[in-house]
Amino acid sequence: MSRRRLTQRQKARIQSIQQQRREKISKRVQQSLTKAGALPTQAGRVIIRHGATLGVEDSDGRIFQCLTRQNIGHPVCGDRVVWQPVDETTGVVTALLPRESVLSRPDFSGQEKPLAANISQLVVVLAPQPEPSGYLLDQYLVAAETIHVRPLIAINKIDLLSDQARAEFLERFARYGRIGYGLVVISAKQEHGLDSLIERLNGETSILVGQSGVGKSSLINALLPDHELETGRLSQATGLGRHTTSAATCYHLPQGGDLIDSPGVRSFRLSHLTLTQLEQGFIDLRPYLGHCRFSNCSHAHEPGCAIREAVSQGKLDPTRVAHFLRLAATLTRNA
Ligand code: GDP
Ligand code: ZN
Repeated sequence: MSRRRLTQRQKARIQSIQQQRREKISKRVQQSLTKAGALPTQAGRVIIRHGATLGVEDSDGRIFQCLTRQNIGHPVCGDRVVWQPVDETTGVVTALLPRESVLSRPDFSGQEKPLAANISQLVVVLAPQPEPSGYLLDQYLVAAETIHVRPLIAINKIDLLSDQARAEFLERFARYGRIGYGLVVISAKQEHGLDSLIERLNGETSILVGQSGVGKSSLINALLPDHELETGRLSQATGLGRHTTSAATCYHLPQGGDLIDSPGVRSFRLSHLTLTQLEQGFIDLRPYLGHCRFSNCSHAHEPGCAIREAVSQGKLDPTRVAHFLRLAATLTRNA
């Protein structure tokens, strides 16, 4: 048998399996929709999603495996939805409620796909090791500002530094406090300073982002001691099985607040921006915008630039402005 024929047979087999799956799902949706038709609707929250299957939590904290009625959009983790229970464990989502914020990332074709919704706080984790990049930190802050989510900077692994090194290290980030950003200094390993973080997570829906190795997993384990158990409970309730590890999941923190996590959420980065979004994303630049001599000032070389003047007067941080110009140059190159 030729290679090509084998491949075609394999292809046909895969297609047939996929077709069967689609039919099974659509049959389930149809059955659920018929059954759900007469039932009262209720509000719920998507706390996990994998493919077409959602885990929706009701107001009593019970989780229902749900499918979505067609043409209502694509609910993601964190979305508030209207749904109808079908039986004790399943239901149908009938409407997607408006989102306060949405985190998305480009898919293979470059189209933005939502990852998580209704996030209120983006915690940027950094540490003495791996060596932090102020440029990357500023990109996270711009990303947070662009999607209207409040950033919080968490400086982890503080146990690695002696008193003096620690003071020097913290001084490097003091500028962010002066701009108005919240900072917490912690050690996930020694569980130091976690109270201040826990307090700031209360009442918020947060995500953790940051370079690999800064301690995001360690932090999640420290904040959610039952996180493995919870994952088990969710995979059972939603029937997702082992797939839950890749799906965005919303965890309830024991001391209040929610944490949405997934590999995709953790590696969230700045996507395509306009120059205006970039300018607005540097909150310290905002008071000076619109005050340059030229309305289309690039803030790089023009005379009468309000931003460069503020730098020379010590009112703006030169490193932040340099990062702004570096990011603006990448926009120009991409345009
Ligand atoms: P992630 O890639 O951001 O999820 O980082 P991990 O949680 O996997 O942590 C990377 C490494 O840093 C691991 O070896 C952790 O044990 C270590 N680590 C995490 N938090 C701390 C901390 O607060 N102090 C110290 N000394 N090491 C830490
Ligand atoms: Zn200017």
